[in-house]
Amino acid sequence: MSKLSALYIEDACRKMPLVQKIIRQCADIPIISCERYGEIFNLKAQNFRLQKNHAGLILAQKHQGFVLPAPPGYGFGNQHSYYFSHMLNCPYDCRYCFLQGMYRSAHHVLFVNYDDFERELALTIQNSAGQPCYFYSGYDCDSLAFEQYSRFAEHFILFFQQHPHAYLELRTKSARIRPLLQFEATKNIIIALSFSPENIARTLEHRVPSLLRRITAAQKLQQRGWSLALRFEPLIFHEGYQENYARLFTTLFNALDVRMLHSVSLGLFRMPQSYFKNILKLYPDDPLYAQHFSTQNGITSYSENQEAEMIKTCEALLFQHIPRPLYYRCKMDLSL
Ligand code: SF4
Repeated sequence: MSKLSALYIEDACRKMPLVQKIIRQCADIPIISCERYGEIFNLKAQNFRLQKNHAGLILAQKHQGFVLPAPPGYGFGNQHSYYFSHMLNCPYDCRYCFLQGMYRSAHHVLFVNYDDFERELALTIQNSAGQPCYFYSGYDCDSLAFEQYSRFAEHFILFFQQHPHAYLELRTKSARIRPLLQFEATKNIIIALSFSPENIARTLEHRVPSLLRRITAAQKLQQRGWSLALRFEPLIFHEGYQENYARLFTTLFNALDVRMLHSVSLGLFRMPQSYFKNILKLYPDDPLYAQHFSTQNGITSYSENQEAEMIKTCEALLFQHIPRPLYYRCKMDLSL
């Protein structure tokens, strides 16, 4: 992870224990007070691409929208599916990520009032009247990549251990699993790992740990009894994608115990046209965006034929390794 350029702190949260810990970790960078994080995050005339190399960390309090219904087609849960975002932005830099088209700023915002998140989570669980609830984190960020500052997993694993009928999916491309290994594997916490073929990871997933490091981390988690999910989202069309996805699946399913997997999913590249246009302005020469995309109802994606071909091919490849009940297709219109 590249070094933070500055630490911004909302006045109201400066005394919180988590904030004090982060201040001690950031002794060698400027520490700047602010009243509301929007003063920095929503400034006009910011360039996401330039700022990505000098991003700061903003510690703020969230005031509403702690737990939200999951978008239609997202995840594996039932009608009681929700997501929550303790962070905005991510230290990694995947060229296909919708966050770079959604936000003006590449600064990381960490909402530190975890107690308020917990209160809303508990209320949501209570209102589900005993039905299992599914919660997804890692929607506006990567769930683990910022753990050294956020202590997010450390905090929320303890919460979900007390609520066995609520399921948490932690989605990540991180290989830093030490925070997880300090806990006993917890049945209702699923570690969802996103993978792309090695050539795509190399060219599009900047700053993400290598495939080898992530596979080794996945193996360690499985050996310790953690429930893993594998996510191949978004599928990236490129010449020879069939062979490259075939190789990726063979590598992963040889390295992991398929019987212990929670689920496996495929998802397509889709994002709102406005985000897509913003990203094109940032990366006009990127080969990913030189491909042909089409837009329908405000959503930009590969053509219908290309999507159908990729899904059919990759599903057939997957089913050489996994039983069908393990599989679902993510139908949400974003790529994270
Ligand atoms: S796709 Fe995921 S890992 Fe990559 S930059 Fe976006 S949030 Fe981070």
